[in-house]
Formats: sequence, structure tokens, C-alpha cells
Amino acid sequence: MKMFKLGALAIALLAATGATQAQDKVLNLYSARHYQTDEALYANFTKQTGIKINRIEASEDALLERIRNEGANSPADVFITVDAARLAKADDLNLFAEINSKTLESRIPAQLRTKDWYTFSTRARVIVYNKSAVNAADVQNYEDLANPKLKGKLCVRSGSHPYNLSLGASMVAHHGEQKAEEWARGVVANFARAPKGGDTDQIKAVAAGECGVAIANSYYVARLMRSEKPEDKKVMEAVAVVWPNQKTTGTHINISGGGVLKTAPNKENAIKFLEYLASDQAQVYFADGNNEWPSVPTVKTSNPALEALGKFKAETVNVGVLAKNQPIVQKIYDRAGWK
Ligand code: FE
Repeated sequence: MKMFKLGALAIALLAATGATQAQDKVLNLYSARHYQTDEALYANFTKQTGIKINRIEASEDALLERIRNEGANSPADVFITVDAARLAKADDLNLFAEINSKTLESRIPAQLRTKDWYTFSTRARVIVYNKSAVNAADVQNYEDLANPKLKGKLCVRSGSHPYNLSLGASMVAHHGEQKAEEWARGVVANFARAPKGGDTDQIKAVAAGECGVAIANSYYVARLMRSEKPEDKKVMEAVAVVWPNQKTTGTHINISGGGVLKTAPNKENAIKFLEYLASDQAQVYFADGNNEWPSVPTVKTSNPALEALGKFKAETVNVGVLAKNQPIVQKIYDRAGWK
């Protein structure tokens, strides 16, 4: 009997240790990213730390909704998404924990982090125009898109989409609310059609001549540039790309990033994971996966499409400021009729 008891105890102890270890060695990642390089990105983390990653992948807004609904019982440790607007939403809902990480503070530039979430890659919002329909000189700045000269020529996705809200937030940061609203009204007055589709659809509409000029994120442009499909090659032959506002405020930059959740059951692993994402190797995978730039300035990638687009001056607005201006911008767009 005694032997049996000891055995049972040993088994119970083993089970308990096993459970603790399982808890210690996992990370529950809620990610809106799903690119080819992600497999290597995550596998390397596990190789380096022994921490296994459980991934939940869904669309950005669905993931945020899920974390909200799960509340205090959410298994999520880290939430990764795109656009400052969405990170701001998570922040407004008080979902992120403040973490003090010397590594993150020294690796990620100050303008690309807030007190509780961090940028891991950047993308630019660029102007794309039809070379035979529009003069390059007329579309060098975001402000130009509101010029009556371009009446009936502009294609852009919905004003309520985070990419455009963030662009508007940048306009508010640079020019103030009143000027930003005047700009939004000018933009709406120049629409070639009611907003529909994503950024790639706008680029294709420009190439097809349905509009003369559009706004799109840089990685959509890079994706089309790298595409082997003849129809995509044709699209890129018809259009040209502008880094907006080179003589003034710089091109609007948005981000992909994330933070540790307040309710994270594996907080230490979560911090380790964010620090890993800021490492040289992870930065390359993270940025290359979606034709973006690493947020750590010393990390170099070699992306043929981005290199072909050349260097540019980026705006230096803090991502937290961009995030904060979102609700104001939504109201401005509503008043301006940018649906
Ligand atoms: Fe996108």
C-alpha cells in the first residue's frame, strides 16, 4: 500500500511539475499577421527559448473583438496587429500591460513606441498615379489630392478604414483640425467614384484609367512590383509611385506592432517574445514577410521592390499621437462625407 501511495504521489508530483512546465513554456499569440516568413519567425523563437507558440490567427478586428469578449479569462499573451488605429483601439479598451523592457526601449526608436505597445515594422502611405492621365507635379503631396485640379480623378478606400484614419490623424498632427477638415472635404470633392475595395483595387483602377490618382500602402505597391503575373506587370507599367510630402512634412508612416496583454497568463514569455521580435534576425523576417521596413534602424533588409522605389523622407510624428487623433478624424471624415 505504501509503495502504491508513494507511486501515486510521485505521479501527482510529476503531473504537477509537467503542468507548471507546460505553463512556463508556452506563449499564446493572437496575430493578425499570416505571411510566409512567419513560420521561420516563430520556429526560431521556440528554438532559442524552448517556448512553444500557440497561434490564433484571424482578421485584425475579429481578434480584438475576441480578446474583448474573453475578458479576464483570455488566454492571449500577446496581440499583434497592423495600423496605429487598431493598436489605439486596443489601448483605449485598456487591454495592454505596461512593460519595462530596456531591450525594447533601446532597440525601437522613441517615436515608434508608446508606454505599452511597440512597432515592429513600418509601411508608408504613398500616392500612385496614372502616368498618361495625371501630371507628376500635381500629385506630390497629400494636400495636392484636395486640389480642385484633380476633380473626378481620385480613388481611395473607405474613410472609416484604419489606414485612412491614420493618414487623417497625421494631417491633424501637422496642420490642426480645421485644415485637416478642409483637406478631407477637398479629397471627397475629387472622388472619381464612391470609396470601395482595398488599396490594391485603387492601384488597379488607376492603371485601368478609371481614376487618375490613388492612395495606397507601400507594401501593396511592392507586392504588385514583385508579382510574376502578366496582369500585375501591366498595372505597374501604367502607374508611377510618389513618396508624398518630401519637401515638407515627410511621407506618412504607419506600422505593424503589438503589446503584452494585461490578462496575459504567461507574461514573462510575452515580454521575451516582444524582445525577440526586436532582434536583428526576427526584424528581417517580420519586415520581409509583408514588404515592410524593420522598425529597428540598424537592421537592413534587401527587398528588391522597396529598393527600386528608393529612399525617402518619412514623417516623424509619434505613433501614439497618430493613435490619439483617430476619434477626431472619424468625426471630420463623417462631416466631410468620406464614407
Ligand atoms: Fe493592408
